[in-house]
Amino acid sequence: MKSAATADFTGEVARLARGSCLCGAVNFTLRLPSKWVAHCHCTRCQRAHGAALVTWVGAAADQVSIDDGQAALRWFEGPGGSRRGFCAHCGSSLFFCADRWPGEMHMARANFIDALDREPQLHAYFDTHVSWLAHADALPTADDPDV
Ligand SMILES: [Zn+2]
Ligand SMILES: [Zn+2]
Repeated sequence: MKSAATADFTGEVARLARGSCLCGAVNFTLRLPSKWVAHCHCTRCQRAHGAALVTWVGAAADQVSIDDGQAALRWFEGPGGSRRGFCAHCGSSLFFCADRWPGEMHMARANFIDALDREPQLHAYFDTHVSWLAHADALPTADDPDV
């Protein structure tokens, strides 16, 4: 995969990580560095993505640019001022942001095409992890902070 880069005003090269939905209508680019990468086991992510867990990449929202030339991106507004961005053409779940994390954009790790700058660091909301998938890593776990 070809890597992408851009030079900022200091002349330093910031590496870019591109991503896409399944059909390619919604493309996005993260200007690295990311802030964190974590597996989320909350029931909202499980249902929104139809998956045991969702691996999210957190970054400052102003480092993310979204190319949505076909106006396919839709936002589902959930509880607690949360918003989930998905492609209306193919149904891919792509983005998450919430009042709880102001100024942050969370992008689904699996939708990135390019390499990232870090590996997953944590299992979050582990109190609601599914019983039908084994976790073989030694990463720390954290439960729902509100329970
Ligand atoms: Zn799509
Ligand atoms: Zn979640």
